[in-house]
Amino acid sequence: MPPRFQAFLLAIVSLSLVFTSVAPAQVKAPFQWSKFEYQGGSYVSLRNIKDFYYFSKMTFGSVITLENSSYKMVVKPGSKQCHLNGVLFVMSYPIVAKNGQYLLHYTDLVKLIDPVLRPASIPNAKAFNTVVIDAGHGGRDSGARGVFGPEKFYSLQLAKLMRDQLQAKGYRVVMTRSSDVYVSRSNRVAIANRYPNAIFISLHFNSAHSSAAKGLETFTVSPVGVPHLGRGVRERDFRKVPGNIVDSASIALATAIHSRSLLYLNSSRGSTNYRMLDRGIKRARFDVLQGIKIPAVLLEGGFLSNREEAAKVHSFDFQRTLASALVKAVDVYRGAILRSGQR
Ligand SMILES: [Zn+2]
Repeated sequence: MPPRFQAFLLAIVSLSLVFTSVAPAQVKAPFQWSKFEYQGGSYVSLRNIKDFYYFSKMTFGSVITLENSSYKMVVKPGSKQCHLNGVLFVMSYPIVAKNGQYLLHYTDLVKLIDPVLRPASIPNAKAFNTVVIDAGHGGRDSGARGVFGPEKFYSLQLAKLMRDQLQAKGYRVVMTRSSDVYVSRSNRVAIANRYPNAIFISLHFNSAHSSAAKGLETFTVSPVGVPHLGRGVRERDFRKVPGNIVDSASIALATAIHSRSLLYLNSSRGSTNYRMLDRGIKRARFDVLQGIKIPAVLLEGGFLSNREEAAKVHSFDFQRTLASALVKAVDVYRGAILRSGQR
């Protein structure tokens, strides 16, 4: 197991302990964020972030690193990339250098940094015992055309493996489909919204024009004002969608899902180290993520358009290892929520 992932595992496990001790002090004397206005947006300084989250050290070079015994956060001026304990997050806005200060957008603080560093303080995160598993595509909708088979086959295969493992652990599982049938996106949303005390995990595999594209990426819904990945801002991006009710819980769930998937696939837990590229945790305006009112993530578990990666996805060991990682992630997320003691 790579040391950075081992550290992340430990950090997640010790999260509630660390922050439970921090919380009472904040209630007595609320921390003051100093906000800066820049190009119509609100920002906070990295120095302010260092103080709030008790980072003991901040170092400047080609990247800026904030560190304490539990966390390591690495950002770069002008870049949207943020590494938290080795896991890549694609922020909604780049880091700004202004008047000798480095600034991070307030949306990224509230919707990304805070829920990841303090999952126990997430609003609207409810205890749950139900997992809605959404196998992408199905029936006449084959999804990506893979080198060895269609996406709808692999998403269902992974969903079934996950279902069996979750049920064995005592979770209640709802499948949006459990056979090769077509289910519309609005139906998937409707099914998920029938279960207020649940989480939603959508399983997909990727495809790109370039056969070189590869790696694993995890999506949550774009916060208000943030566009779909890769396109410009549109007026409707400023409207709150149902998925925004649980923004913070969703990013915490995505963190567990994404980090565990990489941890399990890129180690020898299965029979192979699959060396999956970390493409990051990203924001998108997919229909299912926008419409669902419970914590929701969409995993793209590898590129079927890349021959080498399609072969990995095709192997049963890969599927079983990824399913185990996702089940572990559900446990980890649930533990973080329950330990907050508020719900
Ligand atoms: Zn898909």
